[in-house]
Amino acid sequence: LQTCDHWQSRRQCRFCGIEVSLKNQSTIPEKTPGQLAEVAWKAKELDGIRQVVLTTGASSFPGDEVKLLSRCAAAIKKATELPIHVQCLPPPGSSDGLNLLREAGVDTIGLHIESFDREVLARSAPAKAAVGLSTYEKAWKEAVELFGPNQVSSFLIVGLGEKRDSVIQGSERLADLGVYPFVVPLRPIPGSVMEKDSPPDPGTMMEIYEKVAESLRRKGLSSKRSLAGCVRCGACSALSFYEQPVERIICHPARTPQELTRAAAIRQQVFVDEQRIFQKTDADENDWKSTHLVAELNGRIIGTVRVFPVNDNGHWIGGRLAIQREYRGSGAGELLVREAVRFVKKKGCTTFTALIQEENIPFFVQVGWRPSGLLQEYRGRMHQQMKADLSAA
Ligand code: SF4
Repeated sequence: LQTCDHWQSRRQCRFCGIEVSLKNQSTIPEKTPGQLAEVAWKAKELDGIRQVVLTTGASSFPGDEVKLLSRCAAAIKKATELPIHVQCLPPPGSSDGLNLLREAGVDTIGLHIESFDREVLARSAPAKAAVGLSTYEKAWKEAVELFGPNQVSSFLIVGLGEKRDSVIQGSERLADLGVYPFVVPLRPIPGSVMEKDSPPDPGTMMEIYEKVAESLRRKGLSSKRSLAGCVRCGACSALSFYEQPVERIICHPARTPQELTRAAAIRQQVFVDEQRIFQKTDADENDWKSTHLVAELNGRIIGTVRVFPVNDNGHWIGGRLAIQREYRGSGAGELLVREAVRFVKKKGCTTFTALIQEENIPFFVQVGWRPSGLLQEYRGRMHQQMKADLSAA
């Protein structure tokens, strides 16, 4: 759709120029699947294009644009077999719409929140602010489950008046989920509300790119791993030039049901089969409220640790640190513990404790933890309550 239900209203995104091209009749309001398939096929034959990007405005019936996108994607895939990227608002109810797109042959998806600064988002993109961060977050998570980590992205525009930290922290939040934060400078589009605004200065962009690239490295995200779309192309952002080789072992919250299952299997191996601390399962009532962090090596989950808040006073507990036998000594344990500290600190944790088996005390001291209180027996083994140094995270 070259039209958007929000564009002619007060909900219009101020940086957007979707209907500008309609005014001089350089395009048409709605392209059919057949038209797009024909153009894509010709572009492949004549120009050797290697991927297709489909964008759309919002339909007046929420979600209709997703149905149209899926029909277009299916036709293009059939005609060209090219990788396809789509960009849209989170489909209402998320999973049905996302499934429709995946089944139509879409390879990657952009669900663009544009800014994590709430005030700026409300001012610059009221329609997206109305969708709400929690809806975006739900859609990102479901999209990562369907399309895979690194195949889901969100534009973050710098230059809307946002606080710089909102871009950096927002990028880290996305990277934790496996979503590539596509940070771009504002480019005022002639005909848009912001046409007279100025782009951010290059120094600001460089500082932000450096910090965001660090998150990408730690979370194993890379533009080169993206199959299609703006992240893959990279023309609108210099972020890919700041990317460094990703860590050999990366740590992040479990992003898919498969990763959660692997984490549970490793815990079972360690705490039930090897150590016999639990008889049948080590799963307990704290699992549902926990974030399960995992260590990943070459796409394989090799270790896990869980963290959960005790209450609202900033106290978090870590536990069930388990590394698959073959990977002990790989450094995965230390990386997971450091990631756990970073993660809870971001969530507002002020006290982070864990009950540590006696033989593991030296390891935790080495990564900055301190004993607190006396040794105590827990399930037949001596344990030590220990506290993390949050200032080091
Ligand atoms: S929702 Fe998308 S197409 Fe509609 S005004 Fe906002 S950015 Fe433009």
